[in-house]
Amino acid sequence: MELTVLQNQFTAIYHTQADGVATAPGRVNLIGEHTDYNNGFVLPCALNFRTQILFKARNDNRVNVHSLSYPGESDSFSVNDTISAGPSQWGNYVRAVAFVLQRAGHTLTGADLLISSNVPQGAGLSSSAALELAVGGMFNSLATLNLSPTQLAVFGQQAENDFMDCQCGIMDQLISANGQAHHALLIDCQDLSTQLVAMPENLAVVIINSNYPRKLVDSEYNQRRADCEAAAKKLGVASLRQATLEDIAHSTTLTDTERKRARHVVSENLRVMSAVSALQQGDLATLKTLMAQSHASLHSDYEVTVAATDGLVSLSQTALGDKGAARMTGGGFGGAIVCLCLPEAVHALETQVLPQYQQQFGLTADLYVCTAGQGLNVSYF
Ligand code: ADP
Ligand code: MG
Repeated sequence: MELTVLQNQFTAIYHTQADGVATAPGRVNLIGEHTDYNNGFVLPCALNFRTQILFKARNDNRVNVHSLSYPGESDSFSVNDTISAGPSQWGNYVRAVAFVLQRAGHTLTGADLLISSNVPQGAGLSSSAALELAVGGMFNSLATLNLSPTQLAVFGQQAENDFMDCQCGIMDQLISANGQAHHALLIDCQDLSTQLVAMPENLAVVIINSNYPRKLVDSEYNQRRADCEAAAKKLGVASLRQATLEDIAHSTTLTDTERKRARHVVSENLRVMSAVSALQQGDLATLKTLMAQSHASLHSDYEVTVAATDGLVSLSQTALGDKGAARMTGGGFGGAIVCLCLPEAVHALETQVLPQYQQQFGLTADLYVCTAGQGLNVSYF
């Protein structure tokens, strides 16, 4: 939404003018799935879908929140008190970030907030991380906390882990904090170091949400984490980051399931590094192979795909031919797929894949043509 329209809405709600705007993007992971909590590599890019928060400081330590996504609702809490859960799930994301900042000893400033976002919610594009980073960026600026984008990302992850009860890794928050336009970001989840990787100018990033109703996501996710921890322990390493494919093949103690889970993680880390080179060289043929291998590994070894996402990937691979690459993205059990393709191939995804998917699975998928966007930004009017 245009900033002037948003500023007018802010004034209509709070009868005063906003001081500034904090904005942070959603993200898509190009490759490196279920590697983050194994201290491995991921390669996401921030999207041009963003969450914006207009804000004005208050001097009574209250935080008042409205979101255009939830008209008629609002939340309000005081940063004088220990922050606990409030009446709405969406408002709790704001409380969660305030809570973890406060817990770390930071003194926060009260503010009036208006949230507006074009990041689709619950579609696996991490609208929650976009919201957390925009909130964190705002508190950081208003109270002059001098936290780096990476520190704000860690607070965002803590907000999800410790307040929202979602045991996510660090990827979503780190890319929302540090993304750069026209670049993907290689993240080493062991030490949180990052490296920008330029996106080839001739490649479109297309995300197709399967809209498959996601079930058992949390319990299966926790089970995968436990399988990986068990495998690392049996292999005698601190995390699967330190294991090799040879270790896994020769181990006599791993169960069949643990062997498959570990094989996915270790091979996926290798694919991420190969994908970085392929992106740098604009080598679409290699990207196609790597993304296909990643998907196959998530299907057979990690067992987090469903027929709907397998179908979407397979239909997309066929429609794209040598003009693009496709794989599932995100945690799995439904969710979205990501394609990297020549712009002229987007039409085939829209006109062939969407109707074929509808016909085969009885579901209507949503397609988003995206570009790699900028990370967290806070500015004043
Ligand atoms: P994802 O991060 O994949 O989009 P999540 O379930 O993790 O899905 O986060 C979505 C939740 O984040 C929403 O249900 C809502 O509570 C909160 N949220 C995201 N964007 C907004 C927004 N613009 N306004 C208010 N709450 C939002
Ligand atoms: Mg989320």
